[in-house]
Amino acid sequence: MSTEIWTPLKLLTWTQGYFARAGVDAPRLTAELLLAHALGCDRVRLYLDFDKPLGPDELARYRALVKRRGEGEPTAYLTGAKEFYGHALRVDARALIPRPETELLVEAALAALPEEGAALDLCTGTGCVAIALALARPRARVTATDLSPEALALAAENAARLAAPVTLLQGDLFAPVPAGARFDVLTANPPYVPTGELAGLARELAREPRLALDGGPDGLSVLRRVVADAPRFLAPGGALLLEMHESHAGPLPALCREAGLAAEVRRDLAGLPRLVVARAMG
Ligand code: GLN
Repeated sequence: MSTEIWTPLKLLTWTQGYFARAGVDAPRLTAELLLAHALGCDRVRLYLDFDKPLGPDELARYRALVKRRGEGEPTAYLTGAKEFYGHALRVDARALIPRPETELLVEAALAALPEEGAALDLCTGTGCVAIALALARPRARVTATDLSPEALALAAENAARLAAPVTLLQGDLFAPVPAGARFDVLTANPPYVPTGELAGLARELAREPRLALDGGPDGLSVLRRVVADAPRFLAPGGALLLEMHESHAGPLPALCREAGLAAEVRRDLAGLPRLVVARAMG
């Protein structure tokens, strides 16, 4: 691309084709996000200045991003940002990139969380679920835990930037939660991908922390432990909301019933079973 004049429009057209051939998701949108990031502007600006040639530094920055994306680095790690439930989160390789389907977990949790209730989010990662709850329910008490100190540091940055009052605790699932604490809502988007599936998934996933994805042989290793301990932390009438793999629509509700919880499965926008809503029976 060296001696030619490159305008945003021409670059976007070229990159769209390149990304499409490289099997990159949403080629045009991805090109726009990376170009806007390289230029330090928003996507709308690209079209206002569509025929304004880029300077050499801008072009070099953009080309480096396009190359890394073509090699499988997720767009959100390149831009360092991802929108979740209307909030602009910082993201990087310390935690899983928030997915749109996880917004279903937030919606189900809000439906069950009283104005002044208490919520606990396990495996919080970027903090996306806990932060969305805290911002939607300013008078509720929101606590979040994560095993990974790195992920928790990122969650703390996000909570501070978005002024979301979330108490963050490092440790395995419920371990750092004070004994006797009870919550109206327990949420978790734990690692739930069956180990054997990880290798076959998109190469972008290999850039995300394995700790956030690998759910053991059947994907239920962490979910099983969450369900077993959840009843001790649920307030009367409280709800347990779990994101799960599409293969868990049978076994996860069964595990909930064994733990004395009645469970209902909900589907995501792709029509796949993705969420379990469980409550104490009786
Ligand atoms: N939804 C993620 C994926 O399959 C998995 C997230 C998780 O394991 N919690 O890309």
